[in-house]
Amino acid sequence: MKAAVYYGLDDFRIEERPLPRIGEYEVLVKVRACGVCGTDVHKAVHHTVEDGTILGHEVAGDIIETGREVTKFETGEKVVVPHHTPCFACSYCHHDHHTLCDQYTKTNIDPGGFSEVIRVPQPNVERAMLSFDHIDYEDAAFVEPLACCIHAWDRLVVFPGDTVLIVGAGPIGLLHLELAKTRQTEVLVADIKASRLQQVEKRGGIPLQAREITGLEADIVVVAAGTTNAYELALSSVKKGGQISFFAECPPDSQIALDPNVVYSKELTFTGSYSSTPRGHWKALNLIESGVLDVKQLISHRFGLEDLGRAIKMASRAEDCLKIMIKP
Ligand SMILES: [Zn+2]
Ligand SMILES: [Zn+2]
Repeated sequence: MKAAVYYGLDDFRIEERPLPRIGEYEVLVKVRACGVCGTDVHKAVHHTVEDGTILGHEVAGDIIETGREVTKFETGEKVVVPHHTPCFACSYCHHDHHTLCDQYTKTNIDPGGFSEVIRVPQPNVERAMLSFDHIDYEDAAFVEPLACCIHAWDRLVVFPGDTVLIVGAGPIGLLHLELAKTRQTEVLVADIKASRLQQVEKRGGIPLQAREITGLEADIVVVAAGTTNAYELALSSVKKGGQISFFAECPPDSQIALDPNVVYSKELTFTGSYSSTPRGHWKALNLIESGVLDVKQLISHRFGLEDLGRAIKMASRAEDCLKIMIKP
């Protein structure tokens, strides 16, 4: 099978790899669509993964082989494949921090989704993988990024009528916009790029030029851009008693200045939100399958494996692109 292998931002290579061998409780999936995620871009740009890594984790595909003991799924089924799965039994899991579970990042798909075929480990098959029917592979590949956004919203306290500021109008910011609308909130979306703000208006949000914001008072701020400027904007735009969702990953060793008296006197709440949970995947698939959320319009480009490097660079510049789908 072919895979797009990372050796540097300017060096993705198509390599021939042996087909993964599955155990009795595992399945083999032919990848049909895998979205390029901001975290793939982050890993490639900041070289936080080793040479030879195969990235990609927003996977939808077909089961082409099942282990002897697999009872939940059959060959031929279309599935959304979660790349990690918690144990549901540890202290983190019991505190609803499933993404912090020690088992979580150890249960990885093999290799990443930017390859023709992947092996799905037993915990993922048994506790998190979902089959689908009425939507296409591209829509299904949005389940993981949408589930990440849902995880952030599950950690916020939201009242209808609240004012929500989303910082960042990329594909993730726009997914947050869609979720904010389902919660009957007033949604403002800030970005520094005018081209991205056009999408906000089309989708029923209020676009704001990030550099020009002053005196805003939002009940909830969701940071969907991985820069310290974005977090500083959140801190200066949150209302007394408000909440900030720390959603986007910044470059390593980033720092923001924080006056503890502001948090104290304004009674601010900060919620961190990392990755997605099986419950989030289930909710995300429901929202997409039922047509509550139209994700198709968020796709701006489609590439094969051979153009992964180009796709990641395009996403890193965040110019004239939204979601990029890789179709192995
Ligand atoms: Zn992702
Ligand atoms: Zn656990």
